[in-house]
Amino acid sequence: MSLTDDLYREIILEHFKNPRNHGRLERPDLTAQGANPFCGDELELTLALDGERLREIRADGKGCSISQASASMMTEAVKGKTLEEAQKLAHQFKATMLEGAPMNLPPELEDLESLEGVKKYPVRIKCAILSWNTLLEGIEAHRRGKPAASHVEGEEGERPDLTQQMTTPAAEQEKGPAAEGLEEQVQTALKSVIDPELNMNVVDLGLIYQTDIREGRVRVVYTLTSPGCPLGPVIKGQVQSALTRIPWVKEVQTDLVWTPPWDPHTMASEEAKMELGIW
Ligand code: ZN
Repeated sequence: MSLTDDLYREIILEHFKNPRNHGRLERPDLTAQGANPFCGDELELTLALDGERLREIRADGKGCSISQASASMMTEAVKGKTLEEAQKLAHQFKATMLEGAPMNLPPELEDLESLEGVKKYPVRIKCAILSWNTLLEGIEAHRRGKPAASHVEGEEGERPDLTQQMTTPAAEQEKGPAAEGLEEQVQTALKSVIDPELNMNVVDLGLIYQTDIREGRVRVVYTLTSPGCPLGPVIKGQVQSALTRIPWVKEVQTDLVWTPPWDPHTMASEEAKMELGIW
């Protein structure tokens, strides 16, 4: 992995964690939705126009780091531009990703260059261009005179918060706030357990399959990166001692399982996937 790849990953992760222009406008002049079923990425753009100028833009959605970071960068790049300039930029970006055209961006848009690295991973190109396609479709619909955002009238306030869904597993949402606090403490403790081979914590790697908390007893169902992993006992010991350090924990039970087998593509966090070079 080159230094540039590292830098690019950092820029992408930074946008993913701190998305610019995130959320949605209350009274948009233009709304556009996009989805990338290959990856499960979803996006909604809301735009406020000043004549032909794109005065405000917000992006709301869920999905992988590439799609969300790309949306964040896109909003930064087109905000304040005219619709025509935004379209031009979108075509330029897509040409780079799909046809390998040179990016040639002004310095203030250089974050977008970080996405060029994605070109090497054809399945992720769709993630990177989702926000730009959504923008283009939105602008085209607007030009055709389709009433902007009429279908979202009256829905405001009822919309589920997509960011919440992205970060909170469904199972956790049903528990009360007290249980969530305990669960969080367990997760935090488990994040201190590092797989020495990959030098990443077992939670982000997706090795923790399940945690049950009942009256001070914690049961952890976990796996290892491979059945032949010689570090099994080390990790088990670390899980035990990390959890025992939580004051209310009386007993720790660890259950090592091999089904389903560990698959970093679907189980590891976005950060861990980037560390592992999986896009
Ligand atoms: Zn994606």
